[in-house]
Amino acid sequence: MATPGVRRVGLTGGIASGKTTVADLLAERGALLIDSDVLAREVVEPGTPGLAALVERFGPGVLTADGHLDRPALGRLVFGADEAARSARRDLEAVVHPAVRARAAELEASAGLDQVVVHVIPLLVETGRSGSFDLVVVVDVDPAVQRTRLLARGGLDPEQADARIAAQASRADRLAVADVVVDNNGTADDLARHVDDLWERIRPR
Ligand code: ATP
Repeated sequence: MATPGVRRVGLTGGIASGKTTVADLLAERGALLIDSDVLAREVVEPGTPGLAALVERFGPGVLTADGHLDRPALGRLVFGADEAARSARRDLEAVVHPAVRARAAELEASAGLDQVVVHVIPLLVETGRSGSFDLVVVVDVDPAVQRTRLLARGGLDPEQADARIAAQASRADRLAVADVVVDNNGTADDLARHVDDLWERIRPR
């Protein structure tokens, strides 16, 4: 069934639930994607005012030899429980968040008049933003499947994977704000079919 008047979609889901995969499938079908994680990297690329502001605040130690942001170096300054780390984190956010919001607004303004705009927001529930969209789509996976996929992707040991999952909103909290749930417990083909159903509901007509 089509849902009339859907223009701004908020897409969320837990870590490794399949948000990026769903977002890419929607983009293939014509949606304009606005991914806050991608924008957060873009606004501190070499040559941006964002990166210049970070160097001014944190010093040249946050740059790699080839002039990119040295994320591990910055991480050592901002991840911590002491006041210096908290203050560094606030300053980092004061640079990155407004730049991301400005870029997102610019992208949104570039959308076609009847184009569906999909905002990929991993922390949609945690940041209380579910009310800002015409439709909230949650990619849902069983926690055991989520853990398996998170581990299969590499880079985290089981303890770290569990900690990442535990630090996020619960599956129930996410489902509670969903207008549409996209099940990603099956195969990639199953997921593509679910996205076709979703697209049929939200595509411009
Ligand atoms: P993150 O929260 O880390 O950004 P995400 O929610 O964007 O992750 P994806 O990157 O789309 O999730 O998917 C997580 C991992 O699971 C990827 O390695 C992806 O290839 C894999 N994956 C996604 N859907 C399926 C599926 N239906 N079957 C098997 N693997 C899948």
